Amino acid sequence: MMLEFKENQMASDWFEITPCQSRIFRISEPALGPLHGSHSWLVVGEQRALLIDTGVGVAPLAPIVRSLTDRPVICLISHSHYDHIGGAHEFADRLMHEAEADIMANPSPELTFWGGWLLAESFSRLPSPDYDFSRYHITPAPPTAFVKDRDDIDLGGRTLTLLHTPGHSPGLLSIFEAETRTLFSTDALYDGEMFFNLRCSNAADGQKSLTRLLATGAETVHPGHYQSLDSASFHRVCEEQLRRLEAQG
Ligand SMILES: [Zn+2]
Ligand SMILES: [Zn+2]
Repeated sequence: MMLEFKENQMASDWFEITPCQSRIFRISEPALGPLHGSHSWLVVGEQRALLIDTGVGVAPLAPIVRSLTDRPVICLISHSHYDHIGGAHEFADRLMHEAEADIMANPSPELTFWGGWLLAESFSRLPSPDYDFSRYHITPAPPTAFVKDRDDIDLGGRTLTLLHTPGHSPGLLSIFEAETRTLFSTDALYDGEMFFNLRCSNAADGQKSLTRLLATGAETVHPGHYQSLDSASFHRVCEEQLRRLEAQG
């Protein structure tokens, strides 16, 4: 009991929950900057809930998710970078594109990109007073099922469609709810410094994916980093990134 209380307290101190439209919650880690932490998104349906990404894994995420929904939770891992996968092991059902599945089984600092990037100085405060960053690691959490482009996820009363949007990473998934024209763009698009030059990146694929995201006609975009976008800023950011990639040839 005490342990559970301590975990809940730790989790609620660390994460910031922002309710958005139509049973969507943003779960963030504000003590990390916008590029050291990421946003996770919880989308609640009548029968199930979808958790898109799981943060860096320095505080328990499952108690936060349980406080927001009593529905069974499916965890969708957008890609294998540390800032999206840290809490994945806390969830029994884990969906992912197969292109990055091996990394989830062996999440090394190099392949998950935290080595040399996430530092003790990246934290403006610690997840708990006795937290020791020198012990940071990612707990292996291989996907329990693979998903692919155009797969639908039925949550009961609402359906989300997966879009395979490689570029930043080979298995990167974005998620679109056609009925509300809401796009969860993860690391395929956000209004900040984007990375198409990592070991695992492919800039030409990134261009195609951005073009494809634009074609969704999304009116609300909830990204993996920085602020959510309305239709006009979505178009602006997509076009800026496309111009940048074209200039880089
Ligand atoms: Zn990433
Ligand atoms: Zn990220």
